[in-house]
Amino acid sequence: MNEMDVRESTPGQSSDGEATRSAVLELTGITKTYGSVHALDGVDLSVGRGERVALIGPSGSGKSTLLNLACGLDEPTSGVVKVDGIALSVLDDDKRTRLRREKIGMVFQTFNLLPTLTALENVSLPLRLGGAGGRNAGKQAREMLEAVGLGPRAGHRPDALSGGERQRVAIARALVFQPPLLLADEPTGNLDSETGEEILSLLDDLNYDLGTTVVMVTHNQAATAHCQRVLTLRDGKIVDEAESAFLAGPGAGRGDLI
Ligand code: ADP
Ligand code: MG
Repeated sequence: MNEMDVRESTPGQSSDGEATRSAVLELTGITKTYGSVHALDGVDLSVGRGERVALIGPSGSGKSTLLNLACGLDEPTSGVVKVDGIALSVLDDDKRTRLRREKIGMVFQTFNLLPTLTALENVSLPLRLGGAGGRNAGKQAREMLEAVGLGPRAGHRPDALSGGERQRVAIARALVFQPPLLLADEPTGNLDSETGEEILSLLDDLNYDLGTTVVMVTHNQAATAHCQRVLTLRDGKIVDEAESAFLAGPGAGRGDLI
């Protein structure tokens, strides 16, 4: 059910039934406690293939905890996390690392690039860690850098790039395996609003062209308009779920990625 669904899904138009059948991320009965703190307190969430979901809520409401559990960086106290139909808890450490590398891209507010590596080397790194040879990794990484509009900057180190360019490199790195799921924690948090809007439009285009499902934590009202669903977390619970105005239609501009 994998590769074909990625290509055939139509973002924003799947019925509930389809979303459940082809859920890319499924959280069931999730709790996470740190000592006496209930960071997550009974979260159920199903994100369908090709969806764009925004996660908002006050500081401390559990947003980052949810993303960390979704990518297997942390384990829930109770409940089940499934990515692409696979329960993370049944995987040993090696398999979980591989699943995280190949099926989940992650993007952060602070970009998290390695400062001593060029853009191209940063983007090839996951491929090299996954066992790809240097030439293949370089070729794939270069294609992904071109897809995010940064081909001409491939040889630059992060400190020679603007914030928006660094985030493009981070997005290229996150998507170099063409994973079904992209998790983004405040991806525009360190960018001015115009650059942030460019990054959000890029995510729209990649969502459309590659079929990548996007789950994005954000404080930015403009960012929620790029998602079909907006979930509000408070005290570790999803307290509101709304359909977004969905202002930015899919595929605005770039049709050249696949
Ligand atoms: P958000 O991203 O919405 O700001 P977090 O998910 O980071 O919220 O945190 C949710 C709650 O869990 C907060 O009360 C936070 O202090 C607590 N918390 C998060 N991570 C840890 C940790 N590693 N150890 C202890 N408490 C934590
Ligand atoms: Mg956070």
